[in-house]
Amino acid sequence: MPEGPEIRRAADRIQKALQGQAVDEVFFAFAQLQRFAESLAGRRVETVETRGKGLLIHFDNRLSIYSHNQLYGRWYVRPAHSYPRTRRQLRLAIHCGDKSALLYSASEIDVLTPAQIARHPFLSRLGPDVVGADSADVLAQINAARFARRQLGSLLLDQHFLAGVGNYLRSEILFVAGLHPRLRPVDCSAEQLASLAEAATTLARRSYRHNGVTCDLRIAGELKALGQPRSRYRHWVFGRTGRPCRQCGSAIVRTSVASRRLNYCPVCQPVKA
Ligand SMILES: [Zn+2]
Repeated sequence: MPEGPEIRRAADRIQKALQGQAVDEVFFAFAQLQRFAESLAGRRVETVETRGKGLLIHFDNRLSIYSHNQLYGRWYVRPAHSYPRTRRQLRLAIHCGDKSALLYSASEIDVLTPAQIARHPFLSRLGPDVVGADSADVLAQINAARFARRQLGSLLLDQHFLAGVGNYLRSEILFVAGLHPRLRPVDCSAEQLASLAEAATTLARRSYRHNGVTCDLRIAGELKALGQPRSRYRHWVFGRTGRPCRQCGSAIVRTSVASRRLNYCPVCQPVKA
């Protein structure tokens, strides 16, 4: 599943292709949205915004196309009216000058006014966007009383806590902060919570800027230069079950928290704070 950094990169590609341009044609696969094709034709794309894993394409008539990729959705930006070879179902196409932005397989697509965005059941309740927020906002959220007694392993996947964190970022953030997934904010010192906020924003931005890499860039660069595949240098712990910790050499452990896999180092992330 794409996480905040991947959605932001998709948004950048869409924005680069469409921003400022008048729309030639919008195609909606869903019958209930087809009435908007007419109201969006000829309008200009103003910006492409992300909120966690949600994406909003804003048009100059105050309408916005909202999409959430869930597990299978995928964006393509292509030369106008050219389609990728895929068995996926085309759900949305925005044709604009010499480019088309195409969304396949996503089931959550809507057209919203600003008022509808403000009271949207998902968008209106999201926590700070982990790619865009600064660490002070993230720290304020971590310190909020309503999260204090929830285990970090499940809390980090809650989009009301931090928007845009998914499975790989969760494992990576906990490792860099040196925190065991069973710890709750109430178990941690102020320094540890500050480290958690710092790790969340630093890793999300690193992943956004460096094509999904969350590992230290020097370490990743050295491994890449040695001919290691991306799967071997991309992360600190995620997907590295049984491999040596990059800091202490202990075998990385795999567990499941909130029904999804999580990797951590039993030495660098002790269960007692
Ligand atoms: Zn370790």
